[in-house]
Amino acid sequence: MSILTISLPRQAERRAQLEHCWRARLERITELSLAYHDTAQRTGQGTSAERSRAARRVRKLARAAAGERQELAEIEAALQRISNGEYGQCEQCRAPISAALLASRPQARYCESCGRLAAQPAPHPR
Ligand SMILES: [Zn+2]
Repeated sequence: MSILTISLPRQAERRAQLEHCWRARLERITELSLAYHDTAQRTGQGTSAERSRAARRVRKLARAAAGERQELAEIEAALQRISNGEYGQCEQCRAPISAALLASRPQARYCESCGRLAAQPAPHPR
């Protein structure tokens, strides 16, 4: 049995927020992937300084894309928890996650105290 930790209208609000974030992340991943592809082609061209600049940029883009994909997965997991009726419940201690935390990070898996222990990815990895 699931414990409803936040009201249904609030859940609908969080779902809309999560879906908005999901689309924004997906667009960002597409941009990063296109930039990665273009830059990766340039690692074999030009002077050695240009090639190493392109190689550094490729690594940076790959890290950024990986961070965005991780966040996308977190958002998808949160949408899944809404569907399962487990949204807003800490995955570690099962306590309700505060409305303030869910408002600032709707994909939060953990309550404040468990979240401090589990290293969560930063909201905007760069
Ligand atoms: Zn907890």
